[in-house]
Amino acid sequence: MASVRARRVRLAAIVSVVALSAGALAAGRWQYKPSAAERQALAAISAASLQGRMSFLSADALEGRASGSTALDVAAEYIAAEFRRAGLKPAGDEGYFQTTPRVRLTPTAEGYRCRLAVDGGAVDVEPGRFALLTVPFSSSVAVREIRIEDAPVVKVPFGGPHPEKLEEAARAVVITELPAPPAEAAERAAFVARRSAFVSRLAALKPALVVEIRRDASRRIDYFASREVIDPKFKGKETPVLPTVVLSDATSAAVYDSMRPGPTGARFTVRLAVPVEADAPQRNVIGLLHGSDAKLAGTYVLLSAHYDGQGTRAGPDRIWNSANDNGSGTVTVIELASALASLKTPPRRSIVFIAFHGEESGLVGSRFYAEHPVFPLERTVAGINIEMIGRTDDADGNQRRRASLTGFDYSELGEVFRQAGLQTGVTVFKHEKNSDRYFNASDNRPLAAQGVPAHTICVAFQPPDYHGPADTWQKIDFENMAVTVRMIGTALLTIAQSQAEPRWNSSVPQAGRYLEAWKKRHPADGGGAAVPAR
Ligand SMILES: [Zn+2]
Repeated sequence: MASVRARRVRLAAIVSVVALSAGALAAGRWQYKPSAAERQALAAISAASLQGRMSFLSADALEGRASGSTALDVAAEYIAAEFRRAGLKPAGDEGYFQTTPRVRLTPTAEGYRCRLAVDGGAVDVEPGRFALLTVPFSSSVAVREIRIEDAPVVKVPFGGPHPEKLEEAARAVVITELPAPPAEAAERAAFVARRSAFVSRLAALKPALVVEIRRDASRRIDYFASREVIDPKFKGKETPVLPTVVLSDATSAAVYDSMRPGPTGARFTVRLAVPVEADAPQRNVIGLLHGSDAKLAGTYVLLSAHYDGQGTRAGPDRIWNSANDNGSGTVTVIELASALASLKTPPRRSIVFIAFHGEESGLVGSRFYAEHPVFPLERTVAGINIEMIGRTDDADGNQRRRASLTGFDYSELGEVFRQAGLQTGVTVFKHEKNSDRYFNASDNRPLAAQGVPAHTICVAFQPPDYHGPADTWQKIDFENMAVTVRMIGTALLTIAQSQAEPRWNSSVPQAGRYLEAWKKRHPADGGGAAVPAR
């Protein structure tokens, strides 16, 4: 026993020595002191300049930069104009624009009817209280006509008696009410599991439609106010899942309360025309700063942020300005493009500045780029994506002079940023809860999936007003943001000036699939994995 123990101790000592020297090696490799000219260029990034640009991008006139809106086109033109002013080379298929074909669906109330008929009366649901959930392609808009006439209504309460099968299932409509998710995060997972089990049991009954009663005003959705933008390949396709009509009027709720579980004798009618379709191409904005080193200029570092926002909603505060999410990232891309393009000698590697569209509708722009890369992905050495770096008032406490990188220890980018933070007075750290959780939540993801070491840098993961109407530029901490932008610029320069390429970390299991994707792209290069960084 004793000897085994002694051996174990010795082994542990050896392992820690190896880890230490590997850590020192990784740190040395990513220590970069910007030149005097670079420091000067970064120092010119001011709070006032950031504020000026962001107050435009998140002005009410830009309507929250909704996907498919004219306001989003104005934002794209603005970003392109700034790239042009900085002197970046246009790198889209049409000037600075890389176009993703999309189709906008605008619901029409023409011929609309939604009626719940009971003994001796009927409720006609007004358009603003009606919604449709189809979720086929993350769209809530029907892509075909919906017509159900006088269908028998069966009530199936959540947690109540559940029928084994439905009479006239193909014609019948199930009416139910789903409870709102609990506020307590700890209880949410179990609740969501219970609710989705209930929904699959409903689907197994194979009704023509589900009618959901929704009383909570804050969860009300308005079908006719929705403006979905979909992939043209889904045009006219049938919805693969159970369509659900959501009724949020008080009268329908009262009728629901008066019904007994099981067949009710009530009848349901819904008529909905196909929405009006229009081509609505969406655009990534891409500019190139060509590298100064004859050899390294053929390799690329991406600096990206999504420029789309939350758009508008029904309600008194109609415009969700989307300043922090993600005017802050967009402005950072513009500022760093201007700063680095002003250098007499540009960095050695080429830098690709990208503003992505469609992040909020499912990473649409970044997926499109990953599938149609302008510059070869095997020579794209890293991707730095920026999200929400303007607000410092986080649920976790104030985040001044702090920033987190998602997937912090998945690749050497964590060390690159930690070092850049040391240079600029910002603590860049692994957020115990959120760094891993948010790795897949932004535009770095499609690139990482292709093997490019790509992460997202963020200051506050959950500030107040997140995805809400009050995400306005007046709440941004511009002084801190200027410091953060210089830190990001330093990290960008570190990679763009380095002979070394950042590697995925082979000792972190979560990074395994990205490392595999990297290896597939670099068959000539054996390992490709970094030694553990710490
Ligand atoms: Zn965002």
